Amino acid sequence: MSEKFDVIVIGAGPGGYVAAIRAAQLGLKTACVEKWTNESGKAVLGGTCLNVGCIPSKALLESSHKLEEARHDFDLHGIQVKDVAMDVSKMQARKDNIVKNLTGGIASLFKANGVTSIHGAGRLLGGKRVEVTDAKGGVTVYDADNVIIATGSKPVEIPPAPLSEHVVDSTGALAFTDVPKKLGVIGAGVIGLELGSVWARLGSEVVVLEAQENFLASVDQQIAKEAFKQYTKQGLDIRLKARVTGTEVKRGQVKVNYTDAKGEQEIKVDKLIVAVGRAPVTDQLLAADSGVNLDERGFIYVNDTCQTNMPGVWAIGDVVRGPMLAHKASEEGIVVAERIAGQHAQVNYDCIPWVIYTHPEIAWVGKTEEQLKAQGIPYNIGTFPFAASGRAMAANATMGMVKILAHEKTDRILGVHIIGPQASEMIAQGVIAMEFGSSAEDLALTVFAHPTLSEAVHEAALAVSGHAIHIAQRKRK
Ligand code: FAD
Ligand code: AMP
Repeated sequence: MSEKFDVIVIGAGPGGYVAAIRAAQLGLKTACVEKWTNESGKAVLGGTCLNVGCIPSKALLESSHKLEEARHDFDLHGIQVKDVAMDVSKMQARKDNIVKNLTGGIASLFKANGVTSIHGAGRLLGGKRVEVTDAKGGVTVYDADNVIIATGSKPVEIPPAPLSEHVVDSTGALAFTDVPKKLGVIGAGVIGLELGSVWARLGSEVVVLEAQENFLASVDQQIAKEAFKQYTKQGLDIRLKARVTGTEVKRGQVKVNYTDAKGEQEIKVDKLIVAVGRAPVTDQLLAADSGVNLDERGFIYVNDTCQTNMPGVWAIGDVVRGPMLAHKASEEGIVVAERIAGQHAQVNYDCIPWVIYTHPEIAWVGKTEEQLKAQGIPYNIGTFPFAASGRAMAANATMGMVKILAHEKTDRILGVHIIGPQASEMIAQGVIAMEFGSSAEDLALTVFAHPTLSEAVHEAALAVSGHAIHIAQRKRK
């Protein structure tokens, strides 16, 4: 007789480990299967996010930003520092330590909550049975009343740029031991821009090649235009409508061929990062008799509440439709665990924040102006530039703005877009406001501490009806 669980989760990323903890909190007998193994053969929990995604990238962004500040901003404050230099191996060791602490923390949380951690590759068989193959090839089959698939995603590889020592994906770019003199990045998406920024700040000459004509096409275009201006000022050479068609590694250099509006082009770089998107991980996951369907793009098909077509089999996170974001994966994990326990939780997909952790940061929630126009929804706009914020001036961080879009008739907030200092933190205010169905006036009537960067949110809300105090506005009402 194989051991039986109320819930077996396959994958211990931010989707899977959160789902497992919540299920155990709700009194369900829960196991979480993870195949990732470290050099000493131990299971690695935390998935892409903790090991090779959100956390290590933010650690490097933080370190490289500090270097940038020491080199360019300290002088402005009167701080005299000489011979500022980066010890790349120390920076990497700090990052690795943060990752180790966090992933180890999940193992402790599993223990504390009574989640059984199973090390091996999971495969869903028919009848909600999960076959687990361990590192030595041993196979164990477990039974479950519910299975949650949370196998995440992996970097997309493209035929013109096969990976090698010099052509790397995001995981390789997080582990460079030296600063490449010339660095190419294919793809001006979130990951390409963040990793390009890290190495540019450390001294690389960075060229970003992006096939699309519009920069950050899914971002509000007023914000995207400002971002393009700022990144270019920082030295990122972003070439749009530039589609990479081939690469060749010769004598330690990568020749990159691409086409743009002018025809065939070529650059030579020391390292090339391929950051063209991510694909769901479903290989060797589903036995033929599991009955679980994929959708037309290869993601596991799920409905609005993360149920697959097979009763009792659920799927969450990057392996299903929707934004590939850690917090989206975690929220889906909580919702599924609660639904299994008989509750009626739901993810509000209209209120998921996005962040790009460049400098300045970009963050948004809800609809862009372009989306509102396309959908024929009438709206008012309120913007407030950080250049008019006392706190931003004190912090020497005056670039960017807060932009609020509210329905013309009801004043309900439809979108909040921020480019500027601490945008990743401030966007939570927009998310909370939208989650509570707030109007722009509700925010305008709220008291914000002075002096704070958040006052820019307040002023943008006031600006929706033409009443901003600290900028001259044409009177609307
Ligand atoms: P994953 O984190 O991919 O975890 C899936 C887990 O399942 C993995 O551990 C894998 O080993 C395991 N697995 C797969 N198949 C099996 C199997 N058959 N059996 C057992 N285990 C299996 N998102 C943000 O929200 N904010 C950010 O700042 C951010 N930065 C990022 C930076 C980079 C460089 C990258 C690459 C991604 C970033 N992301 C960010 C995206 C974020 O990492 C993902 O959205 C998130 O990790 C998805 O969580 P998940 O649980 O669905 O999958
Ligand atoms: P994202 O999906 O947000 O990670 O962004 C990936 C980006 O890579 C998208 O903007 C794509 O347009 C871009 N991209 C994909 N293939 C190529 C290519 N061959 N050359 C240049 N850019 C590409």
